[in-house]
Amino acid sequence: MRRIMVAGNWKMHGTRASVAELTKGLRHLVLPSGVDVAVFPPFLYVNQVIDGLDGTSIAVGAQNSAAEASQGALTGEIAPSQLADAGCTFVLIGHSERRQIMGEQDELLNRKFAAAQACGLTPVLCVGETLVQRDAGKTLEVVGRQLSSIIEALGVGAFVNAVIAYEPVWAIGTGLTASPQQAQEVHAAIRAQLAAENAEVAQGVRLLYGGSVKAANAAELFGMPDIDGGLIGGASLNADEFGAICRAAGN
Ligand code: PEP
Repeated sequence: MRRIMVAGNWKMHGTRASVAELTKGLRHLVLPSGVDVAVFPPFLYVNQVIDGLDGTSIAVGAQNSAAEASQGALTGEIAPSQLADAGCTFVLIGHSERRQIMGEQDELLNRKFAAAQACGLTPVLCVGETLVQRDAGKTLEVVGRQLSSIIEALGVGAFVNAVIAYEPVWAIGTGLTASPQQAQEVHAAIRAQLAAENAEVAQGVRLLYGGSVKAANAAELFGMPDIDGGLIGGASLNADEFGAICRAAGN
């Protein structure tokens, strides 16, 4: 049985003061026991959030990590071993903003994914198509290619300790949400692709949906059979809204 997960990606938002306030809001939430909750603050605030959430069940992850597992001479990067040392348990790999704006390619993401796992972190692999690709009927092909990159490099077994987030690029931060049916179609295809390699891995892996999820649309999305929770951007910056999404996931 897969446990539902709700993850908040804070992106490049926050100041020490606003992070303190958001963390305080999260501490006060009454969260459903059947839902795993995690937040992904900017690197700079990871320690502050880990300290602030101490004693709660909320896990903390990072939004990115280096392709090298260990610390070393790599100016400006943060090693997954350092994230693990700080107390992170998850890391986002291949968020579309990093694929599109920072130019991260599949080969680099394979290395980041492997390095994160080598340090005991659980990677959350983000996949998704652009609007042009969807309109061209290429959604399943694009997502399938992003997934097979990891399978070919690391084997399907790499997904035993990983989470996948399907995030259509056209739905991220736009207010446009994939319909539950559109999201389910892609989630089912992801699970089928994994099942073709290993049915047990496919059944066990959590598939999150991301793209303008809010309290008002969460329950309908999370009610689909292959949607095991959500990766939440903008709405995760408000503790009450995020809490309402977590409760929708718990129902
Ligand atoms: C995201 O950044 O992963 C995301 C899903 O953002 P939003 O919820 O704001 O669309």
